[in-house]
Amino acid sequence: MLKRIRAWVSIIAMLILVILCALIGLKLLSGNYHILMEASICLACIVIVFICAMVRLATYRCPDCGKSLKTDGSYCPFCGKKIKR
Ligand SMILES: [Zn+2]
Repeated sequence: MLKRIRAWVSIIAMLILVILCALIGLKLLSGNYHILMEASICLACIVIVFICAMVRLATYRCPDCGKSLKTDGSYCPFCGKKIKR
């Protein structure tokens, strides 16, 4: 459940990021340099996407037994299966 919310948050943040980048680009092209608000929202979205990616990396799960992996090894310490990264 939490995983799905996180996935949605990162997708929405990325979408907003793309839209904002297009908006900033259009504004700059039309000679409007008042993009402080857009730029700050853009930055917030980048931070959200980054945090989501970090959380995802930190809570990487074994595809076989589903246990959370905190080691960098290529084998799961719980079930011994090889992990593809
Ligand atoms: Zn495992």
